[in-house]
Amino acid sequence: MQEIKISNKQEYLDKKYPFSSIPSLADKRYCMQCKSEIVVGEYKVFKDEQGKEIISCPNAPACSGTVMDWYKLH
Ligand SMILES: [Zn+2]
Repeated sequence: MQEIKISNKQEYLDKKYPFSSIPSLADKRYCMQCKSEIVVGEYKVFKDEQGKEIISCPNAPACSGTVMDWYKLH
């Protein structure tokens, strides 16, 4: 998969975030794949073979987690 550079990361999240409660870039989440705390704004975007853009864990490609694997910290 090919990494895409995002110039305005908040705007991209506002458009592409798959859930209704859009986080801000400074928010923290817990990635279930690499079991690490991440800062939302450090996310990466990869384009798959079908051209679909996937919001991925900042620890990608070592971590295969995506936005679907992020949980809110309590
Ligand atoms: Zn991860």
